[in-house]
Amino acid sequence: MDTPKKVVALTFDDGPTGKTDSILAILDRTNVKATFFVTGKDLEKNRMQGQKIVSAGHQLGNHTYSHTRMVLKTMSYIKREIEKTDSLIRLTGYRDEILFRPPNGKKLFVLPYYLKQTNRKTIMWDVEPESYTEIASGSEAIMKQVLEKTRPGSIILLHPMNDGRNESVKAITGIVNGLKQRGYTFKTVTELFQYAEQ
Ligand SMILES: [Zn+2]
Repeated sequence: MDTPKKVVALTFDDGPTGKTDSILAILDRTNVKATFFVTGKDLEKNRMQGQKIVSAGHQLGNHTYSHTRMVLKTMSYIKREIEKTDSLIRLTGYRDEILFRPPNGKKLFVLPYYLKQTNRKTIMWDVEPESYTEIASGSEAIMKQVLEKTRPGSIILLHPMNDGRNESVKAITGIVNGLKQRGYTFKTVTELFQYAEQ
């Protein structure tokens, strides 16, 4: 997103899982509101974690129900994947706009049509440190990469809810402190779009 202002959004994909509490504790300590793109299947298993995310004031987004690729799927399959997850998100008590992020960043064929028909905003990202194995394996490297790549209006993607992503959890504090030192303010994705250049 383009903006001259030093605002940035921290987004977490997948889950909620048992790691929710530790992630929320870090965000609470650093006083940051983030955006969590959750899957319906995980939210169904971990409703309490979903409620905790919402009551702490973070944003919840829809990351489909089963996290399968949305390519070559029928309209009714896609509708079910998205609507079911929306319902589970509403059951947590979340009342704000529900943004959408496709699994694996793919949204070919039927999915874009459905998203357009239902007026959903699809949120991608521009800072993705975990896509490089050598960076993803160390919290220090993750932090450095994020500090180097972040620009005003950036959307940062991490997967701290997943098994094997403990280094991403560890990197959050450094990312937040480093970007704050550089003059950045953290926003939810919906808030970030209020800064978009017209
Ligand atoms: Zn995902």
